[in-house]
Amino acid sequence: MFILSMTLNSCSSAVWTAHPDDVKYRMCDRYSGDPLQMVFVPGYGDAVIVVEDCDQFPRQKVAIAMQSFELAWRAYFGGERSVIINLNEIVITFSSMKRMGIGHTASGDFVENGRIDGYTSSKSSVWVYTPPGSMRICESSLIHELVHASLWARNGHGDPDHSGTRFSGWSYRHDALIDAVNRHLCILGI
Ligand SMILES: [Zn+2]
Repeated sequence: MFILSMTLNSCSSAVWTAHPDDVKYRMCDRYSGDPLQMVFVPGYGDAVIVVEDCDQFPRQKVAIAMQSFELAWRAYFGGERSVIINLNEIVITFSSMKRMGIGHTASGDFVENGRIDGYTSSKSSVWVYTPPGSMRICESSLIHELVHASLWARNGHGDPDHSGTRFSGWSYRHDALIDAVNRHLCILGI
């Protein structure tokens, strides 16, 4: 009983904070009233997330997702400088706005008016659809978009048609990486 109580005490006093967390402008302020806030991602230099809701995807979770992606990318494709630098400069916008538009399916088929789960508009700018609620990062298109952004940093374009034949770069190994990283994040509840 005594041991149990000690364990509970030590657990409840453990506080995890990102570093640095004492810099005011870097924190997400849930009372700011601003529709969008820009928050730095710990461990990734100038990388930021743009959020509507401070609690949906806290930056610590995004940092873990990006680290998981980076480690997987290094293992699958090597730690190319252009890709790693780009991760440190990326702007990730999480948005609950529904968008329809042109795009490509995973197999490369062109779709004229499909629902957009995410898109990569430059090597350092990705947009991720996040419906309100308790969606996890592993269920969003973030890791998928990071593949587009990393291919863009490496090859000069993001290979918008995935496994299609119009653009080069995307392979079955990129699909495997996305599956592996998202499975890992889901297990962590991220
Ligand atoms: Zn895509």
